[in-house]
Amino acid sequence: MIKGLTFFLKFSWKNKKSYVVLNILNQMVQGIMPLIIIAMPKFIIDELLNQQRIEMLACYIVLLLIATFIKNWVGSHIELQIFNKRCYLSCAFSEFIHNKLLNTNYSNLETPDFHEIKEKANKFLYGDWHGFSFILENAFSIAGKMITLIGIVAIIFTMNIWLVCAFAVLMVISTVIDYKLKQKAHGLSLEAVNIERRWNYFTRILEDSSYSKEIRMNQIGDWLINEEKEYAHKAIGFYEKRNKYFSKSALFNTLFVILQSLMTYCYLIKDVIDGNISLGSFSMYVSAITAFSASVKDIITSIVDIKVYGVYYEALEKYINIKDTMRENARLTLPQMEDFLIEFKNVSFKYPGQNTFALKAINATIQKGKKISIVGENGSGKTTFIKLLCRLYDPTEGEILLNGINIKDIDYDEYMKVFAAVFQDYKLFSFSVKENIIWKDNSADSREKTAELLNDIGLGERINSLPKGMDTSVYKEFDSSGFEPSGGESQKIAITRAIAKDAQIIILDEPLSALDPRAENEMFVQFDNIVKQKTAIYISHRLSSCRLCDEILVFKQGEICEHGTHEELLARNREYQKLYSLQAKYYIGD
Ligand code: ADP
Repeated sequence: MIKGLTFFLKFSWKNKKSYVVLNILNQMVQGIMPLIIIAMPKFIIDELLNQQRIEMLACYIVLLLIATFIKNWVGSHIELQIFNKRCYLSCAFSEFIHNKLLNTNYSNLETPDFHEIKEKANKFLYGDWHGFSFILENAFSIAGKMITLIGIVAIIFTMNIWLVCAFAVLMVISTVIDYKLKQKAHGLSLEAVNIERRWNYFTRILEDSSYSKEIRMNQIGDWLINEEKEYAHKAIGFYEKRNKYFSKSALFNTLFVILQSLMTYCYLIKDVIDGNISLGSFSMYVSAITAFSASVKDIITSIVDIKVYGVYYEALEKYINIKDTMRENARLTLPQMEDFLIEFKNVSFKYPGQNTFALKAINATIQKGKKISIVGENGSGKTTFIKLLCRLYDPTEGEILLNGINIKDIDYDEYMKVFAAVFQDYKLFSFSVKENIIWKDNSADSREKTAELLNDIGLGERINSLPKGMDTSVYKEFDSSGFEPSGGESQKIAITRAIAKDAQIIILDEPLSALDPRAENEMFVQFDNIVKQKTAIYISHRLSSCRLCDEILVFKQGEICEHGTHEELLARNREYQKLYSLQAKYYIGD
């Protein structure tokens, strides 16, 4: 509990000091003003029943009105300010979480456990849908309520010390019961995380227009909606069960309040009848006890909430402490790249949580300026090889060396600059065409270079014909006159992006699959001309590109079963020859 609060407090103080200060101010207002509002009616009634001095009555009423004004208007003004600051703080938290996502080992993003911890961490940050920093503000409110409570207890002490003790005992019993019930309720919330993640997934794909073609053509809309409903109902089932505990907790709280009121009224009525206290005091004590019950109830609720959210904080702590090992251990600067050699030495790799090796004892070299083609059947390990080369994963066994240095030791971001890749599942963003290629760079030189590259790749005319040329939005998400590229056009934009990065090694992982074999072949020739002296690695099902390459690596069941030039491999008459002859009909006449 304390750890979670300290974390929040430190974070808030670091990112938005005014948020902490305003909360403290708010609690002072909310803590002190009710005491004046409780006490004043006693003075007014006593004055009315005794001396009836107009100036004193006016004084009490003005004081009462000022306190009411400060509590209500100033209080709500401060709360609105807190809301504004909370939004900034929430933004800072998003940034923090997103940075974590950007920097965490890529392998984490492919493990469900990571996503589950992230969801649970969010539950702590957003108080289980109560809104951001629910926990911290609860803690602040305890401080405010404590101020009121101390004042009220001082008032009640003048009435009867034993009554205060009885109330304290009731408070302790009520807290224990409340804590137990809410702990069970939040346990259910944690169990629901897995279901909620699936529910959110169905909601997301139903709302994401990039899935709509698949959904319509496969007529799976009804099925998806049903799945969404089913998971939603399962989650709601958890909420219903959870709310039963909340309801029980509310019942116990109410019973305690009733019991307290009953004890108070019996005691006070007897005191008034016996002439021990005035009507003014009667009114003050009744208000004090009512406020006492409300404050105690709020304090209990807040303490219990903060305490049970400790479970969620554990998830947040786990999430924050996930080590970004790939970056942390990589300290060497990138070696000189004028001439380079990348070597795979006995590299084997298993995906996390898998029993079988996706790559086995791979030995290969990539030399500067070479064009390498990687071929092999589906699932033979081609993409995995590229993922290891690009350090999305580290080998399970063996090592990958760049000019003799293990790539694990080279600064991660610098190493990333070596590669430009177009993966099979490349993505275009709903930004302008230009931003999809050179991002935020808007210099005249870069725009000119982009226009040249688009021309080289055969997309220049098409882009120039768009309403705003290369500044036209891709897709129609933010602009109804946006550009909806065809499969081939999208791939060309993605390839232009890779070329524009000006990296040492360009990787094309089956990016031309949207083209027919002949167009693909032409595209490869064109691409080869554009990349010129650069090192290039192509993965393609279709082997037409291989003839242009210096070396071909043939993958089979996670191993390199052959390597050599196109002619050498054909002459060898083994795996490559078999794959090639299967497709030869496409190339006849080339
Ligand atoms: P290719 O690119 O040759 O089609 P991959 O390298 O994608 O093959 O896959 C090689 C093997 O690794 C396949 O058996 C595939 O199912 C498995 N694999 C690929 N990606 C993952 C992953 N993220 N987690 C677990 N297994 C994977």
